[in-house]
Amino acid sequence: MQPASPEVMANTGMPKYRPRQAEKAAPCEAGCASGSDVRTWIGLVAQRDRTGLDREQAYTRAWHTITDANPFPSVLGRICPHPCEFGCNRSENDGAVAINALERFLGDWAIEEGLGLDVVDAEPKPETMGVIGAGPSGLSFAYQMARRGYSVTVYERRPMAGGMLRYGVPDYRLPPEVLSAEIDRISALGVEIRTNTTIGVDISVEDLRSAHDILYLGIGAQQPRMLGIPGEDGPGVFTGTDYLSRVNDGQIVEVGARVIVVGGGNTAVDAARVARRSGAEVALVYRRTRTEMPAIPAEVDEALAEGITLELLTGPVEVLRTDGNVTGLRAQRMRLAEAGPDGRLRPEPEPGAVFEIAADTVIAAVSQQPDWTALDGLDIREGWVATSDFGGMGGAMWAGGDVRGLDIAGSAITHGRRAAENVHAKLRGMPPPESRRSTPIEADRVNFDFKESRPPVHPPHLAVEDALRNPTAEPTATITEEEFLAEIGRCFSCGLCMGCQQCWMYCTAMSFTKVLNPQPGIYYTLSLEECEECGKCIEVCPCGYLEVI
Ligand SMILES: Cc1cc2nc3c(=O)[nH]c(=O)nc-3n(C[C@H](O)[C@H](O)[C@H](O)COP(=O)(O)OP(=O)(O)OC[C@H]3O[C@@H](n4cnc5c(N)ncnc54)[C@H](O)[C@@H]3O)c2cc1C
Repeated sequence: MQPASPEVMANTGMPKYRPRQAEKAAPCEAGCASGSDVRTWIGLVAQRDRTGLDREQAYTRAWHTITDANPFPSVLGRICPHPCEFGCNRSENDGAVAINALERFLGDWAIEEGLGLDVVDAEPKPETMGVIGAGPSGLSFAYQMARRGYSVTVYERRPMAGGMLRYGVPDYRLPPEVLSAEIDRISALGVEIRTNTTIGVDISVEDLRSAHDILYLGIGAQQPRMLGIPGEDGPGVFTGTDYLSRVNDGQIVEVGARVIVVGGGNTAVDAARVARRSGAEVALVYRRTRTEMPAIPAEVDEALAEGITLELLTGPVEVLRTDGNVTGLRAQRMRLAEAGPDGRLRPEPEPGAVFEIAADTVIAAVSQQPDWTALDGLDIREGWVATSDFGGMGGAMWAGGDVRGLDIAGSAITHGRRAAENVHAKLRGMPPPESRRSTPIEADRVNFDFKESRPPVHPPHLAVEDALRNPTAEPTATITEEEFLAEIGRCFSCGLCMGCQQCWMYCTAMSFTKVLNPQPGIYYTLSLEECEECGKCIEVCPCGYLEVI
C-alpha cells in the first residue's frame, strides 16, 4: 500500500512522507442500526493481550460498550439484518467479519454470567418519565433515562413487555427467555413496567401528561393493513401480525394443509415459515420480484430451503370461498413499470393474466400502521407521527421507533437512545449531544496483507427436517468461544490503531514510543523530531490510521 499524497522535498525533489496519527470512522459503526461502537468492542477483545485484560475482563468491557448504545445484544445478535457487515472493508476480500454472530456470543455470555447494565449518573433527578409502549424503542428510552437517574414508568397494553419482538418475531428466531433476560436487566435499573395498561383507555394521555414531566411515545405500528379485496372478511383469513401473535401466545391456530401468505416483508416471511412449521404447504405471493422484497434476504433463502414457494409478480384479487370456507385466492400476474414517486418499480397488472391458487388459509402480511385508537390530540401526518430528527414532537412529548415509520429493531433502539440523550441534555441545561457519524474509511486504506486470508465463521445450522420437526428450535446456533475468538481476530480495526507494532518496528528513527497504559486506539505517541520521512510506517500500518501530513 503506497502512502497517499506525499509532499515533495524542496531541495531534493524526493517525496517526503511525514506521518500523523488520525482516527477515522469505521464502516461497521457507520452502518450499525443501533449505533453501537463496533470497532471498540471488538478491539477490547481482539487486543486484550496488548491492553493487559484477561478474557473475562475483555468480554465484560466489550459487552458494556455494546450496551451503552443497545441494551439488547442477545436479541439483535439473533434478528438484526446487520447492516454493519455490509460496509465491512473485509467484505471486498474474503468476507465481512461476522459481527452479528460475535454480538450474539457476547450477549449470551453476559446472560449466563448475570451481568447488569451500567449506571451513567446515579444522582436522582426530580423529573419523571412516562413511556407509552414497552417495545424496543420505549424500553431503550426507559433504559437510557433510568441509568441517568430519572424515575421511569412504562405503560404497556399487552400482558408482557417486548412489543413486536415478543408478539411478532417467531420464537424459533428469538427465544422468549432471551428477550425476557434482556428486559429484566432494564427493570433491575428501577424501571417500572405496568403491563395490561392501555393508554387512551385505562389512562388518558392528558392524565399521563399531568403525571410525568416527559412522555415518550413508542407505540410502534401495531395495526395490520388488510388487502382490501372481496372475500377477505371471515374465517380462514388472518393478518400476519395477528397470526404470529396468536402462535407466540401459545394458541393452536388451525391453518389447514395449504396456506397463502401475501406480502414480501419480514412479517410475511415469518408468517410463512411459522405456517410451514405447522406442516402446511405454503406459497408466498408478492407483487414485485425477489429483488424488491423488503424481507431480510437470508430469511427468504431459509424459507425457500424449508420448501416455501414464491409466487412473484403476483397480486391478490379475491379470496375464494365455498360455503364460507376459504378455498383459494384469485390472483393477477403483474409486471414492473417504471418507478413511482417512492423510487420503487411500480407493479401493474398484465391484462388478462388472472389465475387461481388453492388454499385453506390466506394470511395478509402487507403492512402495518400505528393504532391511534383513543390517542387523540397528537400531531399525526398520514398515519405516522411527525417529529424532529431526534424524536421531539414539541413540548414535553417525544416519539420513536415504528410509530415514525416501519423500520427494524436497531433503529427503534437508536430512536429511544437519541431522544433520551436529548431530553437529558435539555433538562440539565447541557448542549445537545453531537452526532458521531462521519465518512468511514474505505478498503483501499487497509493493508489486507497483514492478516492471513480466511473466510468468516458460519454459525451452525439445523438441518431443515429438524427445524420443521421442532417448531420453536433455533435454526442457527450461537458460535463457540473458539470460533468467537478466531473471528474477532479477523477485524482490521479500520481507521484506528490496534497496537500491531508495525510502525514501531519499522521506524529506524524511533519516532514511535509505547504508552504506559495502552487502550484500543492508544498504543504509541509519535514525535517527528527525528523522523526521516521515509513513509514506511504509513505503508505498513494495516488499519489506515497513519497518514501523510
Ligand atoms: C413479524 C415481524 C418480524 C420482524 N422481524 C424483524 C427482524 O428480523 N429484525 C429486525 O430488526 N426487526 C424486525 N421487525 C421489526 C421490529 O420488530 C420493529 O421495528 C420494532 O419492534 C419496533 O419497535 P417499537 O418499540 O417502535 O414498536 P413495537 O415493537 O411495535 O412496540 C410497541 C409497543 O407499544 C404497545 N402499545 C401500543 N399502543 C399502546 C397504548 N395505547 N398503550 C400502551 N401500550 C401500547 C404495544 O403493545 C407494543 O408492545 C419485525 C417486525 C415484525 C412485525
